[in-house]
Amino acid sequence: MIVSSILDSFRAVLKADERIRVYEQSVDEMSGTAAAIVRVDGVKMLAAMGQRAEAFTGEIRDGLMLAPLTTENSRALMEIFPYTKPRSHKDHPYTIGLGDRLGIATAGHVRAIKGYNVYPVLAQQSIRELTLTNRTFADVIGCAAFGVFQEGYKDGYGADGDHLKTKEEIQYALSSNCTMVTLDCSEHIVAHAATDSDEEISAQYAQIPEQIRRHYEQVYLGVKMPIIGELSEKDLRRVVVEFWDAINHAQECYRYIDEIKTTEVDFELSIDETLTITTPAEHFVIANELSAQGICPVSVAPHFNGAFEKGIDYAGDLEQFNKDLTVHQEIADHFGYKLSLHSGSDKFMVFSTWGRIACERWHVKTAGTNWLEALKVVARNDPALFRRTLAYSMEHRSEAEKYYHVSTDPSLIPDPDLESDAYLPEYLANPSSRQTLHITYGQLLSQDWFREEFFRLLDEHEEDYYQNLQGHIGKHLRYLTAEGKA
Ligand code: ZN
Repeated sequence: MIVSSILDSFRAVLKADERIRVYEQSVDEMSGTAAAIVRVDGVKMLAAMGQRAEAFTGEIRDGLMLAPLTTENSRALMEIFPYTKPRSHKDHPYTIGLGDRLGIATAGHVRAIKGYNVYPVLAQQSIRELTLTNRTFADVIGCAAFGVFQEGYKDGYGADGDHLKTKEEIQYALSSNCTMVTLDCSEHIVAHAATDSDEEISAQYAQIPEQIRRHYEQVYLGVKMPIIGELSEKDLRRVVVEFWDAINHAQECYRYIDEIKTTEVDFELSIDETLTITTPAEHFVIANELSAQGICPVSVAPHFNGAFEKGIDYAGDLEQFNKDLTVHQEIADHFGYKLSLHSGSDKFMVFSTWGRIACERWHVKTAGTNWLEALKVVARNDPALFRRTLAYSMEHRSEAEKYYHVSTDPSLIPDPDLESDAYLPEYLANPSSRQTLHITYGQLLSQDWFREEFFRLLDEHEEDYYQNLQGHIGKHLRYLTAEGKA
């Protein structure tokens, strides 16, 4: 009775104030505290009343706490409404990373997964993305928590510290409540080993500490392994030269996570950001070495054949991709983890195959797509801002190419001076301009003129934005679940 009376008086106070507009889905009450996402004179805030309302920092008006959507207040929200806090996805067979670089996409993402048996990782950022957008993990998770609360979504979500490379980065992510660590071992992989001559490999192999060499020789030489069969001495040496340090690093980082974690953490091993395609033998040896130490990742991201570039569809030999995926999936099944597909935005050509071959469980990461959907809102609603954005983006593309490998030809972008305002959304469909806009997000977001106008516009048109996301991410999910069991 007491509980419902708090909610009732909360609703009454909200209703009485003409300046307040309530996000109905968000209204909730727990442990004697009622709260909701509201707009006060157009500004989005958190309203709260009851026992723990003063856990928020804000202004009290007529017994109502009105708190800005700050990172600090997101912490209080996660305390009082625990479903807004990220958690592990270990038991969920199908998971999707929906990185939100802008911190305003969660509501759209939540709507997009509705009806699918897919667990979302709504917070997902790499250190590179954090730097380019001037954000912190706590900030990224805070935005996801507010978005989840706004939609009244209670089925849980994960937070991925993406492409972490060192123990310091892992510590930073976990202390900020990330529930997933994607370890990027690329700096410990000797990439040129893939193409070095046998003589070069022999010379490098001899430099590796003797007990390491002996270990690998004892485990693998003359032994028929499941799936990959017997490795020749030559092949084993190449794998060891290329990966022994990365394997060591992964083992160390895993133990470190085990040591410092305070809650369940989903461990993903990523070897996708290497120069060469991961062979089955490499994948098997890496997994087997982790397994021998009692380490079973939740997911592993091999480097698949073909190009997975930002913002455009897959380019490569689909038949080969299917063949490779089948073997990688066998290895993943053998060791008991799921395969993870990175740069999954817009890769419609491979999704249904992926869903069919990795049918029992998969992880797919998308990111950046939500940025393009936001620019679509700009193209439709503020032609002048979009034109300026596009011009800036075209001018600064070469700087962004330091971070992202892209192959589209900027000279194929239609001259904006010759195009009408009605044509502007087409720039988000044209592969060359789409990719250019995609990779220059960091530079654009660092410009005050852009930031201010952009976020104001998106705030004003948030429903359009959510609908765009629902449409675009929804299309990803339709393809991913078309032929599989998800
Ligand atoms: Zn990756």
